[in-house]
Amino acid sequence: MSDQSNPRFKQAADPLDQVLRTLTAEQKVYLRGARAGAPAPVGDQQSGLEIANIAGIAGQTRVVLARGDDPAELGNELRRLSTEIIRLGGPPAGAAGRAALMAWFQADASAGPAFVKLCAQLKERLLALDQQEAGRAAAPKTEPPTNEEILAAELGRQLHANAPGDGFRHVTAILVVGGKVYRGKNAGGEVGLVTAELVRRLADKGEKWSIPNCAEVHALDAFVKARTLADKDAVTKALEGSRAIIATVSAKGQPLATWGPCGACEQCRQWLEKLGIAMVKG
Ligand SMILES: [Zn+2]
Repeated sequence: MSDQSNPRFKQAADPLDQVLRTLTAEQKVYLRGARAGAPAPVGDQQSGLEIANIAGIAGQTRVVLARGDDPAELGNELRRLSTEIIRLGGPPAGAAGRAALMAWFQADASAGPAFVKLCAQLKERLLALDQQEAGRAAAPKTEPPTNEEILAAELGRQLHANAPGDGFRHVTAILVVGGKVYRGKNAGGEVGLVTAELVRRLADKGEKWSIPNCAEVHALDAFVKARTLADKDAVTKALEGSRAIIATVSAKGQPLATWGPCGACEQCRQWLEKLGIAMVKG
């Protein structure tokens, strides 16, 4: 039976973590501001409070160390410190008691440094725990879904939907900009002037390209109209840095009355690329 399989060994957490768990809120406040550069307390009440904190931290640490098999050197130093505090009249010893304790710290070569080191180690862990706590508090704010996630969900629904069984070719483009979905269909009717002018400018005018036949054009048109973008510069600006994405699916009707992925035509590929709209395979 190895040490690791011994339940008592498993339960034994790091002594410093055990000490931290037993400290009072007041003692933790003391540790967070511990030592380095901290102003000396003013008056009997504050001085007494600091000595109470020192006595408490030393005492709690001794209790934890005493539980271990090896009380260690630190335990002996802390015992000497506790004895000195009691000798000086106990924690409520006021400003005079604090001054006497600080003088003892100065004069003693081992107990003072041992306690300062202990405080520094406890402070380091305490600040790390504070940060974890802050991270947990911030965590419940869930991130809004990305354009990619929204498109994936839309595509999932579309590919499982019933396709029209009329024998005609049906194409649907799904454009996602700023978390919003804009759909377009082939033969979707008239295209707005701003959209028509923009895509015509950005694509080589293929002889056979009929703008209103492209589902992608209608999806862009839906976006332009929803945002009431007045000209091509407004459209370009609205898409800039938006990480807009688009996917196209088609169904040929009977006997293949199901949706499947389909690519954009050569002209659409050109204007989509120039507008920075990423094409995702449907
Ligand atoms: Zn097209």
